[in-house]
Amino acid sequence: MDKFDVIIVGSGHGGAQAAIALRQNGHDGSILMLTRERSTPYERPPLSKEYLKGEKEFERIQIRPASFWAERGIEIRMGVNVSEIDAMAHEVVLGDGTRIGYRKLIWAAGGEARRLSVSGSDAEGIHAVRTREDVDALRAELSGGAKRAVVVGGGYIGLEAAAVMRALDCEVTVVEARNRLLARVAGEDLSSFYLEQHRRHGVSFHLGAGVARIENDASGRVSAVILEDETVLPCDVVIVGIGIVPSVGALIAAGAVGANGVDVDEFCRTSLDDIYAVGDCAAHSNRYANRAVIRLESVQNANDMATTAAKAICGDKQPYDAVPWFWSNQYDLRLQTVGISTDYDTSVLRGDPGSGKFSVVYLREGKVIALDCVNNTRDYAQGRKLVENEAQIDPELLADAGTPLKEML
Ligand code: NAP
Repeated sequence: MDKFDVIIVGSGHGGAQAAIALRQNGHDGSILMLTRERSTPYERPPLSKEYLKGEKEFERIQIRPASFWAERGIEIRMGVNVSEIDAMAHEVVLGDGTRIGYRKLIWAAGGEARRLSVSGSDAEGIHAVRTREDVDALRAELSGGAKRAVVVGGGYIGLEAAAVMRALDCEVTVVEARNRLLARVAGEDLSSFYLEQHRRHGVSFHLGAGVARIENDASGRVSAVILEDETVLPCDVVIVGIGIVPSVGALIAAGAVGANGVDVDEFCRTSLDDIYAVGDCAAHSNRYANRAVIRLESVQNANDMATTAAKAICGDKQPYDAVPWFWSNQYDLRLQTVGISTDYDTSVLRGDPGSGKFSVVYLREGKVIALDCVNNTRDYAQGRKLVENEAQIDPELLADAGTPLKEML
């Protein structure tokens, strides 16, 4: 049986950064990365942006050049599934029954795109936007002449994909279950702004709408999405961006504590000896969420948690305490977010959304907890300090876009 000093499960941002940070922090033991992916680690944000649009090819979205991993003694086995963990024996079991031993295990398996479960959802032409393979399949359909798209889900995946599809001259209709866009991640000012921007670019919307079923043609290809109110949306492709399901089955079955994801402490340790978890699937108590136990689905979180776990393994224990940040590009709009706005009690608009450059500042109990900044990098950079310091600032002053945020600290 093979045995490695560290096994990393997953090759997304978290898995890749864990390997990189182990070597950067002096780890010289053997490292094995196991992944279901069939490509060396690549960046996910471009999948719903430049990669879908065809502006960047795969080589340009790789996290490191393909040769990097072998040069640093990081073995990657692709196309494999870890189906079981024997935590007592310190072994993982692959789908084909192969057992591999570890001293430390870093679980960076992320999550799988949630799928529609209505009748007809297994038709050809229904796509997630989570992996390179998902987007390659969608691109192939667009090259093949698909022109009418229904996007299910008005979160970042759905909206970024909608913007790209419009740029590619497709007809786009977005169906969102909630009564506003980005409802899970942003306040109402931002939701209305993005709704108006997308409408201006020709996207149609059905908000507060559910998908009842998918209709297929005789060859098994999607032909229409039928909403619960029986509205018929004829289409050639469907893009589904309705969130993710964290991939933690094997860890939970092995006895790790968790419910929505797997629970980790401030050093990214699970409740199982020598097993760490990082990224989308790791539920942790977050200072910027008022110490609530949350999962954060972002590149920042994956990278910073991976660094925390790698350092802990190398004997440099530093608690995870990174300020959350995030970005989204749609049309000519660059959104930058810092902090976590969930549970805000007050929001303040800085600047005029009509100008295409503005920010929303979120407060809880008088303290600044987050900002959403559209085409406003200055507010984003300066607002970060306000979030880090939980600054207490009069909302009237915050609303004065003529006064730089740094002068308010
Ligand atoms: P998301 O943020 O959870 O948004 C999905 C939206 O679809 C939610 O509003 C959800 O409503 C709605 N929905 C769920 N089921 C539906 C249904 N059957 N019909 C219509 N709408 C439905 O998820 P996502 O957009 O798929 O993104 C996945 C993850 O990738 C997220 O964490 C996202 O932040 C991340 N991401 C990041 C970036 C970036 O860095 N810029 C870009 C893309 C994605 P409920 O909340 O009620 O379920």
